Amino acid sequence: MKNLDELVRKNILQLTPYSCARNEFSGVAKVFLDANESPYNAPLNRYPDPLQREVKRAVAAVKNVNEDCIFIGNGSDEAIDLVFRIFCEPAADNVVAFKPTYGMYEVCAGINNIEYRAAMLNADFSLSAERLLALADSRTKAVFLCTPNNPTGNSLDFGEVKKVLDSFAGITVIDEAYGDFSEQKSYRELLPRYPNLIVLNTMSKAWASAGIRLGMAFAAKEIIALMNNVKYPYNISLPSQREALSQLRRKERVDQWIKMILSERRRVISEFSRLDICRKIFPTDANFFLVRVSDAPEIYHYLLGCGIVVRDRSRVELCDNALRITIGTREENDALLNALRQYAK
Ligand SMILES: *Cc1c(COP(=O)(O)O)cnc(C)c1O
Repeated sequence: MKNLDELVRKNILQLTPYSCARNEFSGVAKVFLDANESPYNAPLNRYPDPLQREVKRAVAAVKNVNEDCIFIGNGSDEAIDLVFRIFCEPAADNVVAFKPTYGMYEVCAGINNIEYRAAMLNADFSLSAERLLALADSRTKAVFLCTPNNPTGNSLDFGEVKKVLDSFAGITVIDEAYGDFSEQKSYRELLPRYPNLIVLNTMSKAWASAGIRLGMAFAAKEIIALMNNVKYPYNISLPSQREALSQLRRKERVDQWIKMILSERRRVISEFSRLDICRKIFPTDANFFLVRVSDAPEIYHYLLGCGIVVRDRSRVELCDNALRITIGTREENDALLNALRQYAK
């Protein structure tokens, strides 16, 4: 395990972070003349809390993590980008991931001019830690693992993930965007044992709040401090912080939604498997499933004509003739199934 001094870019280690007005003053005051805000149009006239302390208190309670081990980002995409900006020296370092997986890791690598190395998953979408780790060298700063994986839907085998955690010396990022739908334990629980682990989560999926753009990273407080130094000072808007708080206080509703989505997923998969076009439905632990069909592009366009949009993944490696289908409401799912029953005729 390398320590942070060996992993963090020198310019980031030496950085004097921007100190905004709301950082410098945190006491009690009635008159705020420190930040060049307008006195009109409350509450939007005020800059939001740069460290989102109230939101973090609520997240800490829901996720059972210390507040200083939480980073709140403008979507988890912000946290992914920060991993590159903090740890990876452009045109010198590299990161390792597998494929197929979430596209943002490679896009962020490209934007930051970092070499992206990807090991193929097995044909059943299981992970070979050995094949992945074989791509790593002394300039590999981070490994990205997504579980449950997008677009395949499956959870990675715990033993293989553990091999990566135990053998890789740099930063291991585990993206649990769909973790709320899975029975598997969150890797958050391993944070005390793995100081170089970053676990990502988001309010965009099970929390049904993609519109507020709020993602989370959980990690050792030293890593969180680096993320706070590098992020934009006011990265989460006031309306988003308020909305996040009110959503986080209604967790029972989310648990209810998850139950409904999982029960619909069972039903849709069972109905889908009876369709003539269905070749193979891959095991899923998420709020979507990947299915191999007779002719994915043609069925994709047919569904579009019915006003139903799914994701054609047929050009993705290992996903030939595969569609990725999100679970919707019962009515939406029935619209999909009925359209496909018509297609067969
Ligand atoms: C949807 C998704 C996210 C969420 O990104 P946000 O920026 O938080 O909306 C992250 N990772 C994966 C794998 C996803 O599919």
